[in-house]
Amino acid sequence: MYDVIIIGGGPAGLTAATYLRRAEKTALVLEKNAFGGQITWSPRVENFPGFVSVSGTELGDKLLEQAMEQGAEVELDEAEAIEAIDGAFRVRCVSGESFDGRSVILATGARPRLLGVENEEALVGSGVSFCAVCDGAFYKGRRVAVCGGGNSALQDAVLLSDSCEHVTLIHRRDSFRGEVKLVETLREKENVDFMLNASVTALLGEDELRAVRVEQDGAEKEIAVDGLFVAVGHEPDHSAFASWLELDKAGYAASGENCLTKTPGLFVAGDCRSKGVRQLTTAVADGAVAALAACRWIDGQ
Ligand code: NAP
Repeated sequence: MYDVIIIGGGPAGLTAATYLRRAEKTALVLEKNAFGGQITWSPRVENFPGFVSVSGTELGDKLLEQAMEQGAEVELDEAEAIEAIDGAFRVRCVSGESFDGRSVILATGARPRLLGVENEEALVGSGVSFCAVCDGAFYKGRRVAVCGGGNSALQDAVLLSDSCEHVTLIHRRDSFRGEVKLVETLREKENVDFMLNASVTALLGEDELRAVRVEQDGAEKEIAVDGLFVAVGHEPDHSAFASWLELDKAGYAASGENCLTKTPGLFVAGDCRSKGVRQLTTAVADGAVAALAACRWIDGQ
């Protein structure tokens, strides 16, 4: 029986593990994909205090190293259900393993939102990507489009413009949610075009993407591209555990300031939590808050 099982090994989950170990609680972190979470997709992080500039993978590795150095246990396994057992929790994983904990911290983060156009999922890996850091190199010297207006889309466009022949940035409004500095960097690039007030309405190509159809100001245009990078935000990734949670209108898990959900002993931290600002800094802050609240919960039992 662990003191706390943390579901999700991103910045929130790994920070929670470090804080729990500092408080001498046993902690297991379950991660289904890659430790470090979404940040591993960011080529360069320049707003994490104390790091002038660091790659997302390096930061993720450091967070993992720090949690393990403190004695946290980690497993690459996907949690698929939580059950109540005798005043504690059992977490079942897809591998068939299960782990028991006095308390659980859900730090499952968020997953990329789809555009919702036909063939989008079928073309993933054949022209459609959600990760420029992971897949950008496949499009070296080719023409690509990026869809979205947040920091992810802007960062993706900057990264791709360094190696691709041409980048079209397609955004549904005429102003950006992401940082002005990134927009300025893109405006200075000769191989970047902006398509504003524009929406991708179709993906063209059978086995491989060859073009996107875009609606702009009531007119439709075809843009020939080899790759489309979809960066239109994220959705919370906790549907397997929704029955334990109260969700807000957007589907994020509601909690108090102390990250406690409606279920005693079950806490939530990071991007899957209902809150105003989803950033690395707020994810690690949640991790610390949830861990200390879980310690108080366990000590009070
Ligand atoms: P985001 O900030 O939520 O931006 C999503 C963008 O996609 C918005 O511009 C939105 O348009 C657009 N969008 C949403 N649904 C759409 C749809 N169905 N069709 C077309 N466009 C759609 O998401 P994000 O860029 O992934 O960033 C998530 C968080 O991580 C943000 O807080 C961001 O600042 C942070 N982040 C930080 C870094 C870093 O280096 N520190 C890097 C990346 C991301 P509207 O603007 O019109 O709503």
